[in-house]
Amino acid sequence: MRVHSDADACVGAGQCVVLAPAVFDLDDDGKVVVLHGAPPEEQRSRVADAVAACPSFAIEIEDRA
Ligand code: SF4
Repeated sequence: MRVHSDADACVGAGQCVVLAPAVFDLDDDGKVVVLHGAPPEEQRSRVADAVAACPSFAIEIEDRA
């Protein structure tokens, strides 16, 4: 699993940080930062919850076959 973010799309709502604090943070401008671009599988449900909660579709999970 890899995690990607689009800081230009981020509106700084912060749900991702609340739901998956090991993976996401906000920078000084209130934009999403991915702390862990390849988090362990045990983080998947938290990251998936964050992706679902993001109001601006600024974060995503990429799975490679
Ligand atoms: S939930 Fe989405 S809009 Fe909110 S801080 Fe995270 S990436 Fe940005």
